[in-house]
Amino acid sequence: MLELSKVTVDYGSIRALEAIDLRAEPGRITAVLGANGAGKSSLLKTAAGLVHPSSGAVLLGGADVTRMPAHLRATRGVSLAMEGRRLFRDMGVEENLLLAWSFGPRKTPFAAALEQVYAAFPILKERRHGKAGMLSGGQQQMLILSSVTIREPECMLLDEPSLGLAPIIVAQIFAFITDYSRSRRTTVVVAEQMAVMALRVADYGYVLRRGKVVMEGDAATLAKADIVNQLSAAYL
Ligand code: ATP
Repeated sequence: MLELSKVTVDYGSIRALEAIDLRAEPGRITAVLGANGAGKSSLLKTAAGLVHPSSGAVLLGGADVTRMPAHLRATRGVSLAMEGRRLFRDMGVEENLLLAWSFGPRKTPFAAALEQVYAAFPILKERRHGKAGMLSGGQQQMLILSSVTIREPECMLLDEPSLGLAPIIVAQIFAFITDYSRSRRTTVVVAEQMAVMALRVADYGYVLRRGKVVMEGDAATLAKADIVNQLSAAYL
Protein backbone atom coordinates (compact mmCIF):
# COMPACT_ATOMS: atom_id res chain seq x y z
CA MET A 1 0.00 0.00 0.00
CA LEU A 2 1.26 3.43 -0.98
CA GLU A 3 -0.22 6.55 0.55
CA LEU A 4 0.44 10.22 -0.03
CA SER A 5 -0.92 12.54 2.61
CA LYS A 6 -1.19 16.27 1.89
CA VAL A 7 1.95 16.14 -0.28
CA THR A 8 3.20 19.45 -1.63
CA VAL A 9 6.22 19.60 -3.95
CA ASP A 10 8.06 22.74 -4.98
CA TYR A 11 10.90 23.16 -7.46
CA GLY A 12 12.23 26.48 -6.23
CA SER A 13 9.38 28.91 -6.83
CA ILE A 14 7.41 26.44 -9.01
CA ARG A 15 4.73 24.51 -7.14
CA ALA A 16 4.39 21.14 -8.90
CA LEU A 17 2.04 19.39 -6.43
CA GLU A 18 -0.27 20.85 -3.83
CA ALA A 19 -1.75 18.94 -0.88
CA ILE A 20 -2.09 15.65 -2.75
CA ASP A 21 -3.91 12.81 -0.99
CA LEU A 22 -3.61 9.46 -2.75
CA ARG A 23 -4.03 5.85 -1.76
CA ALA A 24 -2.90 2.94 -3.95
CA GLU A 25 -3.74 -0.55 -2.74
CA PRO A 26 -2.02 -3.91 -3.36
CA GLY A 27 -3.41 -5.94 -6.25
CA ARG A 28 -5.05 -2.86 -7.74
CA ILE A 29 -4.07 -0.46 -10.49
CA THR A 30 -4.32 3.19 -9.61
CA ALA A 31 -4.25 5.64 -12.52
CA VAL A 32 -2.89 9.18 -12.23
CA LEU A 33 -4.29 11.15 -15.13
CA GLY A 34 -3.52 14.62 -16.37
CA ALA A 35 -2.24 16.73 -19.22
CA ASN A 36 1.37 17.67 -19.85
CA GLY A 37 2.79 19.42 -16.81
CA ALA A 38 -0.11 18.47 -14.51
CA GLY A 39 2.32 16.91 -12.03
CA LYS A 40 2.11 13.17 -12.80
CA SER A 41 5.88 12.58 -13.01
CA SER A 42 6.48 14.66 -9.89
CA LEU A 43 3.97 12.51 -8.02
CA LEU A 44 5.68 9.26 -9.06
CA LYS A 45 9.14 10.66 -8.31
CA THR A 46 7.93 11.74 -4.88
CA ALA A 47 6.64 8.22 -4.21
CA ALA A 48 10.01 6.79 -5.32
CA GLY A 49 12.02 9.24 -3.21
CA LEU A 50 13.68 11.07 -6.10
CA VAL A 51 11.86 14.26 -5.18
CA HIS A 52 11.20 15.32 -1.61
CA PRO A 53 8.01 17.07 -0.57
CA SER A 54 8.05 20.52 1.02
CA SER A 55 5.27 19.25 3.27
CA GLY A 56 3.11 16.19 3.71
CA ALA A 57 3.97 12.51 4.09
CA VAL A 58 4.62 9.41 1.99
CA LEU A 59 3.72 6.07 3.56
CA LEU A 60 4.64 2.58 2.38
CA GLY A 61 2.77 -0.28 3.97
CA GLY A 62 1.75 2.17 6.71
CA ALA A 63 5.36 3.20 7.50
CA ASP A 64 6.40 6.83 7.03
CA VAL A 65 9.15 6.90 4.36
CA THR A 66 8.98 10.64 3.60
CA ARG A 67 12.63 11.11 4.51
CA MET A 68 13.88 7.78 3.18
CA PRO A 69 16.17 8.20 0.15
CA ALA A 70 15.34 6.57 -3.19
CA HIS A 71 17.91 3.76 -2.99
CA LEU A 72 16.53 2.59 0.36
CA ARG A 73 12.96 2.78 -0.92
CA ALA A 74 14.09 0.59 -3.84
CA THR A 75 15.30 -2.05 -1.38
CA ARG A 76 11.87 -1.81 0.27
CA GLY A 77 10.31 -2.86 -3.03
CA VAL A 78 9.55 0.43 -4.78
CA SER A 79 10.37 0.38 -8.49
CA LEU A 80 9.93 3.34 -10.83
CA ALA A 81 9.91 3.16 -14.63
CA MET A 82 10.50 6.74 -15.71
CA GLU A 83 8.99 8.32 -18.80
CA GLY A 84 10.98 8.03 -22.03
CA ARG A 85 12.16 4.43 -22.25
CA ARG A 86 15.31 4.68 -20.18
CA LEU A 87 17.34 1.59 -21.00
CA PHE A 88 21.00 0.78 -21.45
CA ARG A 89 20.65 1.04 -25.20
CA ASP A 90 24.13 -0.23 -26.10
CA MET A 91 23.81 -3.26 -23.90
CA GLY A 92 22.09 -6.50 -24.84
CA VAL A 93 18.50 -7.30 -23.90
CA GLU A 94 19.55 -10.02 -21.49
CA GLU A 95 22.31 -7.81 -20.04
CA ASN A 96 19.69 -5.15 -19.24
CA LEU A 97 17.64 -7.79 -17.43
CA LEU A 98 20.66 -9.08 -15.53
CA LEU A 99 21.52 -5.58 -14.40
CA ALA A 100 17.95 -4.93 -13.23
CA TRP A 101 17.84 -8.28 -11.43
CA SER A 102 21.19 -7.49 -9.73
CA PHE A 103 19.63 -4.43 -8.09
CA GLY A 104 16.61 -6.34 -6.84
CA PRO A 105 16.07 -8.37 -3.70
CA ARG A 106 16.87 -11.55 -5.74
CA LYS A 107 14.12 -13.73 -4.39
CA THR A 108 14.24 -15.77 -7.60
CA PRO A 109 17.45 -17.07 -9.27
CA PHE A 110 18.26 -15.20 -12.49
CA ALA A 111 17.58 -18.17 -14.81
CA ALA A 112 14.10 -18.67 -13.36
CA ALA A 113 13.35 -14.93 -13.40
CA LEU A 114 14.45 -14.82 -17.04
CA GLU A 115 12.13 -17.70 -17.92
CA GLN A 116 9.21 -15.74 -16.45
CA VAL A 117 10.12 -12.69 -18.53
CA TYR A 118 10.42 -14.73 -21.73
CA ALA A 119 7.14 -16.53 -21.05
CA ALA A 120 5.39 -13.13 -20.80
CA PHE A 121 7.22 -11.59 -23.78
CA PRO A 122 8.54 -14.29 -26.17
CA ILE A 123 9.82 -11.59 -28.55
CA LEU A 124 12.41 -10.59 -25.93
CA LYS A 125 13.72 -14.15 -25.94
CA GLU A 126 14.12 -14.00 -29.72
CA ARG A 127 16.01 -10.70 -29.37
CA ARG A 128 17.92 -11.58 -26.21
CA HIS A 129 21.38 -11.16 -27.73
CA GLY A 130 20.52 -7.96 -29.63
CA LYS A 131 21.14 -4.45 -28.31
CA ALA A 132 18.27 -2.91 -26.36
CA GLY A 133 18.52 0.24 -28.48
CA MET A 134 17.72 -1.78 -31.61
CA LEU A 135 14.34 -2.94 -30.31
CA SER A 136 11.12 -1.36 -31.55
CA GLY A 137 9.35 1.09 -29.22
CA GLY A 138 6.90 -1.56 -28.05
CA GLN A 139 9.66 -4.09 -27.42
CA GLN A 140 11.62 -1.47 -25.46
CA GLN A 141 8.58 -0.85 -23.28
CA MET A 142 8.28 -4.62 -22.73
CA LEU A 143 11.94 -4.68 -21.68
CA ILE A 144 11.41 -1.77 -19.29
CA LEU A 145 8.43 -3.49 -17.69
CA SER A 146 10.41 -6.71 -17.46
CA SER A 147 13.32 -4.84 -15.86
CA VAL A 148 10.90 -3.46 -13.27
CA THR A 149 9.11 -6.76 -12.56
CA ILE A 150 12.32 -8.85 -12.46
CA ARG A 151 13.05 -6.97 -9.22
CA GLU A 152 9.79 -8.38 -7.84
CA PRO A 153 8.61 -4.98 -6.60
CA GLU A 154 5.87 -4.52 -4.08
CA CYS A 155 5.08 -1.10 -5.48
CA MET A 156 5.45 -0.45 -9.21
CA LEU A 157 5.35 3.15 -10.48
CA LEU A 158 4.96 3.46 -14.25
CA ASP A 159 5.26 6.81 -16.00
CA GLU A 160 3.36 6.86 -19.30
CA PRO A 161 3.99 3.28 -20.44
CA SER A 162 1.77 3.85 -23.51
CA LEU A 163 3.71 6.87 -24.82
CA GLY A 164 4.18 6.68 -28.59
CA LEU A 165 3.00 3.08 -28.92
CA ALA A 166 0.39 1.54 -31.25
CA PRO A 167 -2.93 0.68 -29.54
CA ILE A 168 -2.41 -3.07 -30.00
CA ILE A 169 0.94 -2.92 -28.17
CA VAL A 170 -0.56 -0.72 -25.45
CA ALA A 171 -3.29 -3.33 -24.94
CA GLN A 172 -0.66 -6.06 -24.61
CA ILE A 173 1.39 -4.03 -22.14
CA PHE A 174 -1.62 -3.11 -20.01
CA ALA A 175 -2.78 -6.76 -20.01
CA PHE A 176 0.63 -7.74 -18.65
CA ILE A 177 0.48 -5.03 -15.95
CA THR A 178 -3.02 -6.17 -14.91
CA ASP A 179 -2.08 -9.87 -14.71
CA TYR A 180 1.10 -9.10 -12.83
CA SER A 181 -0.57 -6.83 -10.30
CA ARG A 182 -3.48 -9.20 -9.62
CA SER A 183 -1.44 -12.40 -9.40
CA ARG A 184 1.23 -10.94 -7.10
CA ARG A 185 -0.85 -8.36 -5.27
CA THR A 186 1.54 -5.65 -6.38
CA THR A 187 0.60 -2.03 -5.81
CA VAL A 188 0.65 -0.36 -9.23
CA VAL A 189 0.45 3.35 -10.00
CA VAL A 190 0.27 4.27 -13.68
CA ALA A 191 0.60 7.88 -14.83
CA GLU A 192 -1.03 8.47 -18.19
CA GLN A 193 -2.21 11.24 -20.47
CA MET A 194 -4.21 8.67 -22.44
CA ALA A 195 -6.89 8.51 -19.79
CA VAL A 196 -9.36 6.32 -21.66
CA MET A 197 -6.79 3.58 -22.18
CA ALA A 198 -5.54 3.71 -18.60
CA LEU A 199 -9.07 3.56 -17.20
CA ARG A 200 -9.77 0.34 -19.10
CA VAL A 201 -7.33 -1.46 -16.81
CA ALA A 202 -7.28 0.72 -13.69
CA ASP A 203 -9.46 0.12 -10.65
CA TYR A 204 -9.31 3.66 -9.33
CA GLY A 205 -8.02 6.95 -10.63
CA TYR A 206 -7.03 10.50 -9.78
CA VAL A 207 -7.17 13.43 -12.20
CA LEU A 208 -4.50 16.07 -11.71
CA ARG A 209 -4.62 19.62 -12.98
CA ARG A 210 -1.86 22.10 -12.23
CA GLY A 211 -0.62 20.00 -9.34
CA LYS A 212 -3.98 19.46 -7.65
CA VAL A 213 -6.37 16.51 -7.57
CA VAL A 214 -9.48 17.83 -9.31
CA MET A 215 -11.35 14.52 -9.38
CA GLU A 216 -10.99 10.98 -8.09
CA GLY A 217 -13.12 7.87 -8.23
CA ASP A 218 -13.45 4.31 -9.46
CA ALA A 219 -12.38 3.79 -13.05
CA ALA A 220 -15.89 3.24 -14.43
CA THR A 221 -17.09 6.54 -12.97
CA LEU A 222 -14.06 8.50 -14.15
CA ALA A 223 -14.34 7.04 -17.67
CA LYS A 224 -17.73 8.76 -18.02
CA ALA A 225 -16.56 12.13 -16.69
CA ASP A 226 -16.27 15.06 -19.08
CA ILE A 227 -12.94 16.17 -17.64
CA VAL A 228 -11.44 12.74 -18.45
CA ASN A 229 -12.86 12.59 -21.95
CA GLN A 230 -11.53 16.06 -22.71
CA LEU A 231 -8.12 14.89 -21.56
CA SER A 232 -8.11 11.92 -23.93
CA ALA A 233 -9.54 13.92 -26.83
CA ALA A 234 -6.65 16.35 -26.56
CA TYR A 235 -4.19 13.56 -27.38
CA LEU A 236 -6.01 11.82 -30.22
P1 ATP B 1 4.75 15.44 -18.43
O1 ATP B 1 3.76 14.48 -18.96
O2 ATP B 1 5.12 16.53 -19.37
O3 ATP B 1 5.94 14.77 -17.78
P2 ATP B 1 3.67 15.76 -15.80
O4 ATP B 1 2.20 15.73 -15.60
O5 ATP B 1 4.42 14.53 -15.52
O6 ATP B 1 3.98 16.22 -17.27
P3 ATP B 1 5.59 17.13 -14.15
O7 ATP B 1 6.71 16.72 -15.04
O8 ATP B 1 5.48 16.51 -12.83
O9 ATP B 1 4.21 16.96 -14.93
O10 ATP B 1 5.66 18.71 -13.99
C1 ATP B 1 4.81 19.46 -13.10
C2 ATP B 1 5.27 20.89 -13.08
O11 ATP B 1 6.54 21.01 -12.47
C3 ATP B 1 5.39 21.52 -14.46
O12 ATP B 1 5.03 22.88 -14.36
C4 ATP B 1 6.88 21.40 -14.75
O13 ATP B 1 7.31 22.40 -15.64
C5 ATP B 1 7.48 21.57 -13.36
N1 ATP B 1 8.74 20.82 -13.21
C6 ATP B 1 8.92 19.49 -13.33
N2 ATP B 1 10.19 19.14 -13.05
C7 ATP B 1 10.85 20.30 -12.75
C8 ATP B 1 12.18 20.62 -12.34
N3 ATP B 1 13.11 19.67 -12.21
N4 ATP B 1 12.47 21.91 -12.11
C9 ATP B 1 11.53 22.88 -12.22
N5 ATP B 1 10.25 22.65 -12.58
C10 ATP B 1 9.90 21.38 -12.83
